Parts: sequence; C-alpha cells; structure tokens
Amino acid sequence: MAHYPDFHRRSIDDRDGFWREQAALIDWETPFSQVCAYSRPPFAHWFVGGRTNLCHNAVDRHAAQRPDAPALIWVSTEVDQEVVYSFRQLQREVERMAAILQDLGVKQGDRVLVYMPMTAEAAFTMLACARIGAVHSVVFGGFASHSLATRIDDAEPTVIVSSDAGSRGGKVVPYKPLLDEAITLAKHKPAAVLMVDRGLAPFSRVAGRDADYAELRARHIDAQVPCVWLESSEPSYTLYTSGTTGKPKGVQRDTGGYCVALAASMKHIYMGQPGETYFSTSDIGWVVGHSYIIYGPLIAGMATIMYEGLPTRPDAGVWWSLVEKYKVSVMFSAPTAARVLKKQDPAFLTRYNLSSLKALFLAGEPLDEPTATWISQAIGKPIIDNYWQTETGWPILAICNGVEPAPTKFGSPGKAVYGFDVRLIDETTAEEITEPGKKGVIAVEGPLPPGCLQTIWRDDERYVKTYWQSIHKRTMYSTFDWGVKDADGYFYILGRTDDVINVAGHRLGTREIEESISSHPNVAEVAVVGVADNLKGQVAMAFAVLKDPASAASPADALALEGEIMKLVDSQLGAVARPARVRFVSGLPKTRSGKLLRRAIQAVCELRDPGDLTTIEDPSALQQIRELVTPA
Ligand code: ATP
Ligand code: MG
Repeated sequence: MAHYPDFHRRSIDDRDGFWREQAALIDWETPFSQVCAYSRPPFAHWFVGGRTNLCHNAVDRHAAQRPDAPALIWVSTEVDQEVVYSFRQLQREVERMAAILQDLGVKQGDRVLVYMPMTAEAAFTMLACARIGAVHSVVFGGFASHSLATRIDDAEPTVIVSSDAGSRGGKVVPYKPLLDEAITLAKHKPAAVLMVDRGLAPFSRVAGRDADYAELRARHIDAQVPCVWLESSEPSYTLYTSGTTGKPKGVQRDTGGYCVALAASMKHIYMGQPGETYFSTSDIGWVVGHSYIIYGPLIAGMATIMYEGLPTRPDAGVWWSLVEKYKVSVMFSAPTAARVLKKQDPAFLTRYNLSSLKALFLAGEPLDEPTATWISQAIGKPIIDNYWQTETGWPILAICNGVEPAPTKFGSPGKAVYGFDVRLIDETTAEEITEPGKKGVIAVEGPLPPGCLQTIWRDDERYVKTYWQSIHKRTMYSTFDWGVKDADGYFYILGRTDDVINVAGHRLGTREIEESISSHPNVAEVAVVGVADNLKGQVAMAFAVLKDPASAASPADALALEGEIMKLVDSQLGAVARPARVRFVSGLPKTRSGKLLRRAIQAVCELRDPGDLTTIEDPSALQQIRELVTPA
C-alpha cells in the first residue's frame, strides 16, 4: 500500500517511471521505446513504438491460462435468456466474427459501425474489430435514423453490424427499418451490412449488401484469426459524447494507452481480481459500456455481465438477484438508475445475498446526497462516486482504494486520480485557485494521461479549439465542469460551466440548488436552470418530479408545496438562490444516457429554439415544460 498523495504526486513528477510500471500490467508484443512523446502539445503519444492488441489482453491471454473461467455473462430479461461464455468460448466467437468481418472486406484501420442491442454478438463485434485492427464506432441502439445517419457519415464505415431488433420493457423495438432509412439518408454507403437475426422482428434484406451472421458464422466455424499487433497510438475506436450540451463530439481513442489505463484503473480504483465478476449496468453505446462492460473487466481477467433489460423488470430486485447468482464483486451504475430504484420498495434490494459485493460505483452525473444515502442503506454497501467524461475514458476524480483506502464524502467524487494533474481555474481571472472552498473550472494540465482521447475523429483543429484553452499563460484541458476542492483535496462538482447562473451578481451552480430541492422528502428528481430576467440578469427556475404527484394535483396544493420548497432553499442556501418558480412535471427531459438536458430546458424557458435534440430520450417531457412556460 502506498500513501495516496505520494502516489499521485509521483504520477505527475515522475510521469514516465510511473506509467512504465503500469504498462507492465498488460502484454506487449514489441516493447515501447518511449513512455510519452509530448513534443506536439496537446497531442500526446503514449508508449511510442510499443505493439499490443486490446483483444489479446482482454481475451487471448486469459483463455491461454484459464480457458474455462467465465468471461462474458450475457443476461437478457427481455428475451429470458442467459448464456455464459468462458474465455475460450469467447475467443472462438471473436475469431469467427473477425473472419466474417474480413470476409466482408474489413481491413486494418477501416471503421465498423455497431448499431446493436445489448447482445453477446455486439461484444464479439467490438472485440473482433480490436483483434484485426479495425476501428469500431458503436452507436447507441436507441438512436433513430437521423442521429444514426450523421454518425455513419462521420465514421464512413466499411461494414455496419446490426440486428433485427432490440427489446425494451418486453416490447420489441425494430432496428432494421431505422438502419435502412439512415443509410438512405447518409451520403456514405457501407459496403456491407451484417445482420444478426434474433428472430424478434421480420425485416427485408437488401440484395448484395445485407449479409446473414448465422450463415457466415457457420462458414467460419473453425476460423483462426490471429491478433494484429498495433502500434500503441493506432486508433481502437471512436465514440460520440452524450450530446448534453450540444452537438456530440467524435472521441478517438488509441490502443496501448487505453489498455494500460484500464488495466491500472481496475487495480487501483475498482479493485477487481481475476476470477471475480464485474457488473456494469450501462450500455455498450456509452463510454462506461466500452471501458467497464467490455474492455476493463476482461483485461483484468474478470467475468463481465452484459445485461439487456430494465432495472425494474420483472421486479426491482433483478440486478441484485444477478449479484447473488454470479457473485458479483464490483458493480457500476449511474445515479439515474439509483433514482429509478428509489421509487421502488427497498425490500427488493435486500431480498438477495449481496455478500460477494464489495462496492457500488456510480458515475455519469451528480450523485445527490439523499440518493446516495438511500441506496447505500438499502444495499448496505459502500457507494463510490467517480467523475469522468467520454473524452477521458476512465475516472478523473475518484477514491483510489486500491492504492490506499480512504473515506468517501457524500456529494464528492473524491480526489484527483493519479495521472491527472487537476487544477481549479478562476473563470474570470484565469488564475489557478489553491484556496479550499473557492469555486472554479476543473482543468487538467497536459499531457492527459494514457487512455484519454487522442483527438476528435478527423478533426484535430476542433479538438484543440474545443478543449485546450489558454488559461493563465498555460494551455490546459478544460472539462467544462465547475467545482470546488476542500482542504483534504476532495472535489465537489457544482455543474457544467453552461449551468452556472448569475442572479443579481451572485454566481450559483444549478447543482447546488437542485441538491437543496431534492432534500425535500416529496421530491424524486429536479432540474434547475437559469432563465434570463430583465431585473436580476438571471433567475433560477425549477422543475420537479414528485414522489407523490397527487399531493400537488390541485393548484392550491401545488402552490403550497412550491412555497414549502422555496422556504427550504432559503434556509439552506439563502434567498438569493430561491427559484423564481418551482413547477411540477411528470418527467424531465434527458439524454438517452440519462443526463438532464438543462440546456434544452433553459432554451424552452427563454422561448428559444432548443437546438440539437438528437440525443433526447423523451421529447414529451420537454413539451410538458414548454406548455407550462409558454404565456397563454
Ligand atoms: P456533451 O459533452 O456531448 O455535452 P456529456 O458531457 O453529457 O455530453 P459524457 O461524456 O457522457 O457527455 O458526460 C460527462 C459529463 O457528465 C461530465 O463532464 C460531467 O458534467 C458529468 N459527470 C460525469 N460524472 C459525474 C459525477 N460523478 N458527478 C457529477 N457530474 C458528472
Ligand atoms: Mg461533455
């Protein structure tokens, strides 16, 4: 065990020595000649000249040593199936898929777009791409034609791998018609479409373009496809950000740096051991799905659960039944999922034997204290918040219990993670803030550690312009999140820089106001936005979802509750933070990955066009707000 502050300091001061040690966690076919080349900032090249392969590290090396150990556990409560693939079986399936892709013309460096539900075949495809050096671009299966078409044009895939349908809450969701329409809309046309037919929804095939997975798999049943050894900086995949604040950005990831970063994070942050089981409830369409459903756990030699279904079906105990059945040791989910469970009876969570579980990690959005406390008490396990971005690929802020156990502080995702030279920057003066308790923008001094984005796909200029800003004579990576650090080095996220509101000269994070409102016992969820106001510059507007909607059914009751909530904010934050209105809604507009679309709510409140809404989950939630705020 090391002393964490020393461990972190060394990762910055002796960057090369530190990462050279971490690099020994993975297999290299050719050793690297230099740890980090940073002669062309902000572009960092990690493990120069080293040759490795993500699929080798995730699958083959474990298959060679523990062929029968479980690797991929696919569970679907949508189609009531469970399949456990050992490392050997997984390797065989991946080799078959690799042979199929090659058969369809995919070469090293070509893109393969994956538009699939949460099926084992989606995992085979990602790993097969990694195996042959093709660049996968997974597009979340819930996206419709327009969003998909823009991503097809950006990635220009040789092949698209898809399925007849997904399923959600027992309802079949056909994919193929959306895909066909997207290809029609897109300028770029793939050479082939590989269809994994689950037998859920009949579909029409385009002759000469659409190939059948089952047929090709049979043809390549004995395929042996060796891993292609890639130079460390060759791209492994591209993936779009969630689009919470505007047009999604195509994040490009390398090979060697990513592999090392994930292996190290599994050891120091998530503390997963070979032979244990990891369960991340995310989707392969998001970065958490890439890093901690597929690559991270497998690289660590763990079994990974890939779950297709809702957290509440057949009942709210389903995830915990999987923890018991597969002896899950590490679990990873999102606050939004915890809030879904919070609306259910906690008895569902305690019905199962959770003794194998060491901790539940949550990331992706602010974890409010009531939700953290609720879920921690309901499952009786430590809840560990961690903060990161699609861009970084792994946590920037976390508690590194694998280095030195440290207490968690509710509301804080923890300290700067090793490798990240995190600084707080004053937005107006561009000076660094060192004083505890003072708010600033969270920035990272370059180079970013291994595993972070290399660039934006085919757009170096946008990469530099978007993220790297001259702050105080230094060029730093901006997270566009706003935070504060306490005297112990724990950070607190106050919201996105877009979400800061200025009420009569007072700068407030919408997150602080949301936190206060959500401490009201009747509030399940809340969004606060700043709305332009002639008098005060901006005022806060709140939209809350109630646990008991009937309690505000009449206008008089709603008004009384609104007053009660305002009083609560007054008492906790002061009258300056009091929202101008608290309106009650049945749902909040979110991205498909469960993040609040405050930007869109704000635009609607200011009677403006909400802009790019391609990633919205439920447009009717925004419509409900529009109806509330539009003057009669
Ligand atoms: P876009 O960049 O396209 O607007 P996005 O930022 O929502 O979308 P992601 O990369 O999925 O896309 O999300 C990263 C962001 O999520 C962070 O910058 C931060 O705002 C928020 N976030 C992630 N984890 C946490 C956390 N633990 N606490 C608070 N906020 C978090
Ligand atoms: Mg972002």
